[in-house]
Amino acid sequence: MKTGIEILYNLAQKKKIPHALIIETNDMNIFDDLKKIIKVFVCNNENQACDLCNSCKKIENNTHPDIKIISLEEDSNSIKINQIREIREDAHIIPNESDYKIYVINQADHMTVQAQNAFIKILEEPPNYVKFMLICSSATNLLETVRSRCEIFRYYAQENDEKNEISDISEQIFRSIINKNKSNILEILSKIPNNRIFLKSLIKNILERYINLFRNNQENKNSITQTIDDLQYILNLVDRNINFNLLINYLLIIL
Ligand SMILES: [Zn+2]
Repeated sequence: MKTGIEILYNLAQKKKIPHALIIETNDMNIFDDLKKIIKVFVCNNENQACDLCNSCKKIENNTHPDIKIISLEEDSNSIKINQIREIREDAHIIPNESDYKIYVINQADHMTVQAQNAFIKILEEPPNYVKFMLICSSATNLLETVRSRCEIFRYYAQENDEKNEISDISEQIFRSIINKNKSNILEILSKIPNNRIFLKSLIKNILERYINLFRNNQENKNSITQTIDDLQYILNLVDRNINFNLLINYLLIIL
C-alpha cells in the first residue's frame, strides 16, 4: 500500500474514519487502494482486511451489496441529482451483510450544484452505519456547504511533487480569489519560482478550477467566462518573450 494511503488504513482499523471523507487526489486509480480500507469495515475477521473471507473477496470483485460506487453516467460529464437522490433513499435501508454502508463517489467534484445541494441533506444527518468517500481532483470545486460537512484527506502520487506544489499554490490563489483577498494573491504570486513552465502549469491549474466553477455555478457566469478568456490569453503570452514580472502583473490584474 502507498505510504499516504496507510494513514487512512490505520484510521479505519481504529474506527476513526469520519462519516464523510473527501479524498482529494491526482491518482485516478486510488480506488484500488481504497478497497483495502473498505475491507477493514466489512471483513469477517474483524479489523483485518484479510483478503480471504467472502466479504473481502466481494469488495475485490466490486460485488459487495453494502458498498455502492457512484460515477459519471455514460455520455455525461456530471453527477446528477437523480443519482444523489438514489443514494439518499438507499442510505436509509440498513446494511445487508456488514455493519456499514459505504458510498464511494468518483469524480465527486463533477456533481452538479443541484446534486450537491441534495447531497447536503443526507450529509447533515446520515444514518450511523453510513460512510461517504468522495474522490475528487480538487475539493475547492465542491460547494463550501458540502466541504464543511466533510473531512478532507489529500493524497498525491509521489512522483508528482511539482504538480502537488502547483496544485497547492493554485488552491491558495483560488481561495484568495473567492475571498476577494487581492493582497494575498500578490503575496503568493511574488513567491513563485521565476520559471515559465511552472507558471504555465499554474495558470492551467487555475483555469481548470474556473472551468469547474463555471460548470457548477448558476450565477456570475459572465464574469467567470471573462476570467477564463483572460487566463487563456495570458497562457498564450507565457510562450512569448514577455518579461516574467509583467506576466505576473497581468495575472494579478485579471484575478
Ligand atoms: Zn476479510
